[in-house]
Amino acid sequence: MTTLDDREGADGGPDRFLAGLEDDCARCGGSGRVVNDAWRAWHERADELVRVAQAVRRAAELNAPDRENAARQCQEHEPEIVRAIDRTIDDHVRARPADPERVGCAACRGSGRVLSPAGLRLVEFLRRHGFVRDR
Ligand SMILES: [Zn+2]
Repeated sequence: MTTLDDREGADGGPDRFLAGLEDDCARCGGSGRVVNDAWRAWHERADELVRVAQAVRRAAELNAPDRENAARQCQEHEPEIVRAIDRTIDDHVRARPADPERVGCAACRGSGRVLSPAGLRLVEFLRRHGFVRDR
């Protein structure tokens, strides 16, 4: 972690000083955008449904009387549970959230940057002297 003191070396100019006052936002990784909560939940449910479908297909193949041709038989005579899961997946795909998938990060207000510990110290210094007001 860079501190204000580290940036005040002999070769440090104003840009280095200012750069030391910020870090990349940990929540969005510096992109300023995050996945919308509704989309995150939608993706988690989609992943869960795919895992269930894979497990059911594997179980159907293992239980097939002719293990040699189990995959082909399961495709031809798919158990009702597999079709039900496929319908659930189709319903889930149609129920995609209407909101944009990625939204501005609330932690950094979309800038991708947050105050570093040195930046927070500077803000506190300026606040103490009346240059910064709380929002
Ligand atoms: Zn952020």
